[in-house]
Amino acid sequence: MKIHALTTGTVSVKHSFLFPSHGARRQLDLFLPGDFSDPLPIHCWAIEHDGVLRLVDTGETAVARNVPFARMGVTREQELPAAMATAGLALDDVSEVVITHAHGDHIDGLVHVRARVLINEAELQFLSSPMARVMRRVLRQPLPPGFGPEPFALDGGPFGAFQRSRPISDDGRIVVVDTPGHTPGHVSVICVDDSGRHVMLAGDTTDSLEQLHALRADAVAPDPKVHIATMKTILAHCAKHPTIYLPSHDPESAARFAAAITSRESAAAAA
Ligand SMILES: [Zn+2]
Repeated sequence: MKIHALTTGTVSVKHSFLFPSHGARRQLDLFLPGDFSDPLPIHCWAIEHDGVLRLVDTGETAVARNVPFARMGVTREQELPAAMATAGLALDDVSEVVITHAHGDHIDGLVHVRARVLINEAELQFLSSPMARVMRRVLRQPLPPGFGPEPFALDGGPFGAFQRSRPISDDGRIVVVDTPGHTPGHVSVICVDDSGRHVMLAGDTTDSLEQLHALRADAVAPDPKVHIATMKTILAHCAKHPTIYLPSHDPESAARFAAAITSRESAAAAA
């Protein structure tokens, strides 16, 4: 199995997104003036395994608009085709895409992809809710043209600490797990690498490893309690299996992946 970290530009997010206040201000602050973070990477991932090339997310495109709490830094030269070429991969070879959740910085790159696209049925359902429709219009974040993913159910039973999962490779070494919080149908993809470590392509379950250890919900999670429960499940999983935890926007994800540093080792180093 070979996993590639791809980068499609950057995003800067408002401080109140990463460190929200509690109560009514939690989401209100997103729309009020405030400081922004340094540019954070927008990662997506390619997995070569058993002759099949899969993507987890597809990154952002240059046409994406900023929103009150996120500023995009993506040029056309940083979109998915170039990101894949940098990794020595060709888009035409992709046979399947799994999306962690349906925010633009994870799905807008689908405009470049012809392969079939898989989405958790709960995320697809959430997308058609009146609230999600209104937010897409207010924030001027339409779904990418031609968006037509196939829903799947997390009906494969437990995987490690996760109660709900679904294997997507024939040998069960690539598994989608249930990580609701940032969005109601958010999933992550765990790859059991050739050394038996779990490589967790975590989407936006958190924006950093630090946020995971701090059990801090972000400001966009519809229900912070659900978000925090998912973080506890991830930590329980990391305690059982050496896991390389890789959020999409963690500036340290690429280095952690390259050095194969597990969550346990990071926690020990931070202590
Ligand atoms: Zn994101």
